[in-house]
Amino acid sequence: MQVQKGNGMDSFGPKAMRFFEAHPDWQPSIDSCCSAGWDDILAQALEDLHELAQRRRVVIRIAQIKEKFAQLRIYIRVKGEPEQVHFDVFAQGSVASGRSPKVSRDSVTAEAVAIVNRASDRSQQVCERCGQPGVVRHFGWMRVLCDQHAAELE
Ligand SMILES: [Zn+2]
Repeated sequence: MQVQKGNGMDSFGPKAMRFFEAHPDWQPSIDSCCSAGWDDILAQALEDLHELAQRRRVVIRIAQIKEKFAQLRIYIRVKGEPEQVHFDVFAQGSVASGRSPKVSRDSVTAEAVAIVNRASDRSQQVCERCGQPGVVRHFGWMRVLCDQHAAELE
């Protein structure tokens, strides 16, 4: 059974919206979205990244926020670091395409990667529709859903 991707995926939840309203510079530079159930996870990651930027006095910019392979993905740039690059962080921190392989451990980039990875990992355990505990399900593509929302799709 197919469900259109635009279903609940074409905007941000109230917490992320509040963050972007308070910090317009942090709005993603390209089309982005986050499922309603992941609003808490995204908002926490944004707050953590913002705190990191303030504490380390660097500029962090959000390139894009989206769901990919049943994970919340946050694509960012950290300005003012040697590793300054556009990276794509995968769950479990296994791959970071486009990212310098030599990110020093105490760099802002390393801290930012940890924040983004944490959000990605958490999203795999939270229903993207409602925010209740969920697991990754395969409906031709992968989604994270609680039992109730998975039953609705079956
Ligand atoms: Zn649900």
